[in-house]
Parts: sequence; structure tokens; C-alpha cells
Amino acid sequence: MAYSLLVMKFGGTNMQDAQAIRHSASLAARSIREGVKVVVVVSAMAGVTNQLLGLADAAQRGDIATANDEIAALRTRHFAAAQELGAAPDSEVVREIRELHETLRQAVYGVYLLRELTPRSRDLIVAFGERFSAPLMRLALEGQGLLAHHLTGGQAGITTDAHFGNARPLPGTYERIRDRLGGLLAAGVTPVVAGFMGETEEGAITTLGRGGTDFSATIIGKALGADEVWAWKDVDGVMSADPRVVPDARNIEVLSYGEVMELAYFGAKVLHPLAVTPLQESGIPLRVKSAADPDFPGTLVQEAAHNEAGHPVKAVTAIRRVSIINVTGAGVLGVPEVVASLFEAIARENITLLMVSQSSSMSNVSLAVQSADAARTLDALRRRVTGELNIEEQPGVAVLAIVGAGMRGQKGVAARLFGALAAADVNILMISQGSSELNISVALEDAQVERATRAVHAAFGLGQTAAAAD
Ligand code: ADP
Ligand code: ASP
Ligand code: MG
Repeated sequence: MAYSLLVMKFGGTNMQDAQAIRHSASLAARSIREGVKVVVVVSAMAGVTNQLLGLADAAQRGDIATANDEIAALRTRHFAAAQELGAAPDSEVVREIRELHETLRQAVYGVYLLRELTPRSRDLIVAFGERFSAPLMRLALEGQGLLAHHLTGGQAGITTDAHFGNARPLPGTYERIRDRLGGLLAAGVTPVVAGFMGETEEGAITTLGRGGTDFSATIIGKALGADEVWAWKDVDGVMSADPRVVPDARNIEVLSYGEVMELAYFGAKVLHPLAVTPLQESGIPLRVKSAADPDFPGTLVQEAAHNEAGHPVKAVTAIRRVSIINVTGAGVLGVPEVVASLFEAIARENITLLMVSQSSSMSNVSLAVQSADAARTLDALRRRVTGELNIEEQPGVAVLAIVGAGMRGQKGVAARLFGALAAADVNILMISQGSSELNISVALEDAQVERATRAVHAAFGLGQTAAAAD
């Protein structure tokens, strides 16, 4: 297909040093030379986001020496990359990176003085990773003889609500992106947008949640009516399981938007859970591609699912560090209002429920939440739910999910899942199936999750050896 406009997203590994950035720029340049207009969206260099979160915490604890050492290390890493990409010491890009580091230092010093790290200041600090890497990509594109211009998420038009740490684009975003990027594209300039970040209407910097650069790219893809959005990664594409856990996981050629959302929601770190949402209305495809093997087709994510007979399940995934909150007691028995108030308390706290199960007598309700949210959940339930209830946390849990549109209406899928888990001597703590029948999820002990994942992956014939035998 002859493309006219593509959005290309490069992840942390594809931006990790000058060499990786140069290679990423060459991938964009290949299409640009063929006459395709490309918008490039970049992540922070690998590891930088975690480093920024760590140094912000250090400043809040009063350990400004550690925070400053980390900032100095970041500065060295970004300067070294800029230099290797050919920036003169007095060039505009080097000056900008220097100024950004100075602003970061001041923001972190503010946290240290106040010993307070609010979600708002954390977003300001953590978004620097992408703000540093965007000018580096611009340098690399210029090194390819192209015209390029870098922008922050806000400058590119991404305006969000003020939900710091997990912000969502406001409706006006799409038109603003068209305004801000359209002119550059028309003039033959490649825009390089800092991913992961947006800005409130008041100009405060927000972030879209971890892995948010995927989401930035699809927001821009929708705004510009791109032919496709390409997310370049360090893996072949979306695979049948996390390749770090299941060595013989294989690439999935086609997935539907719905399947990818379930996979991302249930812990497959490869894409942000909301990444496909902007594409759904317009049906713009998302391609996950390997930067190491650019001619490999990777994974095509589109509206329609491709179901292969005999393979109802396409992938296995897991969320680690989960807690089950068990609510028991005579007070729950046969009193729907109590159950309603449980959910209300949780909704009010904005806590994501991963799984819910209720015994039919209503004497017990179990809720699976991220362990990081457990204390908040317990507190909310104890404060807001009346009646004689016993509320307890069971930590050390994981949620494993099997995903595939081919499961719809198929008998025997659950039996195969439970059989595989039993044969691997894995104990099931909770079970749930979404009404969409795109997934079945089970809670189990976190210590058993990798073994369970490999067993389930094999039981559904998802491995490379199984594929070869088909
Ligand atoms: P990027 O910075 O490019 O967004 P990420 O590290 O966020 O890269 O996502 C890619 C990583 O996701 C892979 O290195 C892989 O370990 C992990 N991963 C987890 N589950 C899957 C899966 N089902 N398919 C592919 N990769 C997966
Ligand atoms: N750098 C951010 C993160 O690590 C965003 C991204 O990589 O997509 O979460
Ligand atoms: Mg990612």
C-alpha cells in the first residue's frame, strides 16, 4: 500500500543511546524518502523514566545529594548522545538540553525544600525524559539530511484533564494537533513529538500513564487521519506471551482492537491499555514492528479479529503484585445495599478493580486490586461501608488471563485452562470471564504465575514448536 501519512513511535530501547536513535531515525527516513509524511513520537531513553521517579522520591525524602547525582548522570548521558549525533557544543539543541536540565534541577530542589511530591510535581519531573529525547531525535533526523522540528506534547496540541499521572486527552486536542502539526508537515518538516506527556488548559504538564507514548502516537494518528500508526519496539510484535517469561512465545500476525485492549489491561506491557482507543472510531490500523527487523510485518491491530479454527486463545498474560480483598460477614448476607456501597466506595477512590467475585448467598465478596492500591481500598471500605463486616487483604497474588476473540461461543476453553493449571499444580483463588468472552482470568499465587503462564501457553498450543507441528 502506498502511504501518505504515518505516525511512528519509538520506545525507550529504540532511543537508548545515539546508535539506537540514529537507527530509529533511519527507519523514519526510509519512509520519508519514499514520499510519506511522517510524525515521529518518542519515549525517554531506556531507564530514564524510572530514574526520574527515583530521584524525585529521593528529593522528597530529603536526600538531595542522591537526586543531584542522578540529574548529573542524566545530563552526561543526554549530552554524550547529542554530541555523538553531531551537535556542536554551542548549538541550539545543546543549549536547550542544558536549560531543561537546569529547570529539572530547580523543580527537584523545590520538592526537596517542601519535602512534598504531589502528583502534579511528579508529572512535571517525570516528563523531562521525553523532553530530553525529542531534540536528540531531531538531531538524528537532521543527520539524515531531513528537516525536523521537536515539540513537547503540549506544544503539539495534546491538552488533557488534570488527572496527573493518568491524564486523558480533552476533545479539543484533535483539532489543535491538526493546527500545530499540519503546517510543519505541509512545509516538508518532520515533527518530533515528546510522547507520554500533555498539558492542562492552564499549562501544567501531565502524563498519560506508564507506557503512555503509545497513547500519544495514536492520539496524533487519529487527529491527522494517518494511514497507520507504527509502534517500533524491541520485540517482533505483540507476542503470545511475554517473551521474557515464555521463551518460545511467538508473534501474533493480527489482533483486534478489543483483543489488544484486554491483553494490555491484563498486564502485557507491550502497549498502553488505552493506546488503541483513539483509533477505534476511524478504524486506523496500529502496527507493532521490530526495529531490529524492519521488513518483518510484526502485528497488525485492526477492528476485525482473525480467528483461526482450533486456536481460540491467542495469548496469555499476567498482572503481578495483586491483592485480593475479602469481605465477609453476616452483614453482607442477602443485603444488596452492602454490596452496592462496596462498589461505590471503590469508585469514589478511583481504584481499578481487576476481578470481582461474589458468592451467590452474598455472604462473601472478593475483589482483586493492584497491591499498590490495597491500603487505599481497605481504608475506603472500612470508612464507608457500614455493618458487621470482616475486611481482609490477601497479598502475593497474580491475575493470569487468556485472551482471544475465538473463545466466543466455544465450549471447553475454560476446562482446558483449569486442566492445564491443575496439571501444573497451581491453585486457583478466583475466576472470572468477561461477558465479551474475549478473556478468562484467574487469580493465583504470585509465586506460581510464571510456571502457570508457561503451562497455559503450552496447553493452548501457542508455542513456536506447536505452530511448526500444525
Ligand atoms: P517500548 O518502550 O518500546 O514501549 P516496552 O518495554 O514498553 O517497550 O514494551 C515492550 C516489552 O513488553 C517487551 O520487551 C516485552 O518484554 C514486554 N512484553 C510483555 N508482554 C508482551 C507480549 N505479549 N508481547 C510482546 N512483548 C511483551
Ligand atoms: N517513558 C514512559 C514510561 O517509561 C512512557 C513510555 O515509554 O511510553 O512509562
Ligand atoms: Mg512501552
